Amino acid sequence: MSKFACRCGFIMSLSSEDNEYEYSMIPEIKISEIIGILDVNNNIIDVDDFIKKIDSSKKDILYCTHCQRLWLRNDDGSYNSYIKETE
Ligand SMILES: [Zn+2]
Repeated sequence: MSKFACRCGFIMSLSSEDNEYEYSMIPEIKISEIIGILDVNNNIIDVDDFIKKIDSSKKDILYCTHCQRLWLRNDDGSYNSYIKETE
């Protein structure tokens, strides 16, 4: 996916990995697990192990910088949108 059209009409360009729209939501329990490895291993973690731990538990989110809507990616590749409730 190189572009994603938000409901507000804004187009997010996702072709570059360092774009400002893509986020990963990581469970706190997974962060604690990684910190535990760093604690017992001189602050070193194997990069492949690190990526595997993150990728196996993260949720992908797109953040629209125009309307602040969040798009949470489902396991089937579809997205659900979330926006601040005003009431
Ligand atoms: Zn938007």
